[in-house]
Amino acid sequence: MKKMSTAKKPTGFVYHDACLRHVAGLGHPEQPDRVRVIAEAVERSAIKAKLELWTPTEVGRAPLEAVHDPAYLDLVDRVVADGGGQLDPDTRAGDGSDRAARLATGGLIEAVDQVMAESWNNAFVACRPPGHHAERDRAMGFCLYNHVAIAAEHLRRFHGLERVAILDWDVHHGNGTQHIFEKDANVFYASLHQFPHYPGTGAATERGLADGEGATLNCPMDSGSGDSQWMAAFESQIRPELEAFRPDFLLISAGFDAHRDDPLASCELTNEGFRELTRAALALAETSANGRLVSLLEGGYDLTALADSALAHLEELSSC
Ligand SMILES: [Zn+2]
Repeated sequence: MKKMSTAKKPTGFVYHDACLRHVAGLGHPEQPDRVRVIAEAVERSAIKAKLELWTPTEVGRAPLEAVHDPAYLDLVDRVVADGGGQLDPDTRAGDGSDRAARLATGGLIEAVDQVMAESWNNAFVACRPPGHHAERDRAMGFCLYNHVAIAAEHLRRFHGLERVAILDWDVHHGNGTQHIFEKDANVFYASLHQFPHYPGTGAATERGLADGEGATLNCPMDSGSGDSQWMAAFESQIRPELEAFRPDFLLISAGFDAHRDDPLASCELTNEGFRELTRAALALAETSANGRLVSLLEGGYDLTALADSALAHLEELSSC
């Protein structure tokens, strides 16, 4: 019997144990436990019944080449084959790193495919390492591959979508994502981030280049800013511009390191702030992107705050 079209579709929760096998270094804040605590919180939660738990497949080289230079991909292969090493001062690739990063990219691609097929309502990809600092030609800031940029290219090349929006609320500016699309009028990159702060980019004056002018929007937030300031910036700046852009799909670079307990930044968001941001993003996707939304874990380094705020994020995603 054909399924009723009104049947409630699940939220995808994408996770793979092999993402625990990327070791960034002893005492490194981007630790395997980050995704383990999220998976455990989901396991204990009442919302588990509303989720489809999905084990992703690692992506091959072709989707990575849609964004990254072949010479950079060769370098990662070489470093891993030689037993591992630093790709930048903060970013190490060792045994298991390349596979973990390819699972994160593959998981995000599979999630957008499920949403495009209308099998899932939306999805959250809880894999690691994160991606938004990775540039076309180099690793940076704990990131090997720019998953969200690769997924945006996949949506355009494979699904034929015209316009994709990326909303990045990680506390750090997503320099890699901005640079990859800054000359492109059809991928809108909107970021809320502490400023000035690592990586140094993301001033309000950075609005994109050439044909892409106007399709980059940076909302630099003060150190000490919290839920109300971040929501106000979203409502007054990001929502009107993304509504006018009318994306066919909304991707979220969901870092939870703007949380007040996070050790790597000094913003003051609470779990409820991330819940509110999620609600606002869902409403935006509903009015401007046919409800199509997939979210990817970026940063978040206090394990308790990360598990709680990621769970609040998932509760909202699965409530609609
Ligand atoms: Zn971050």
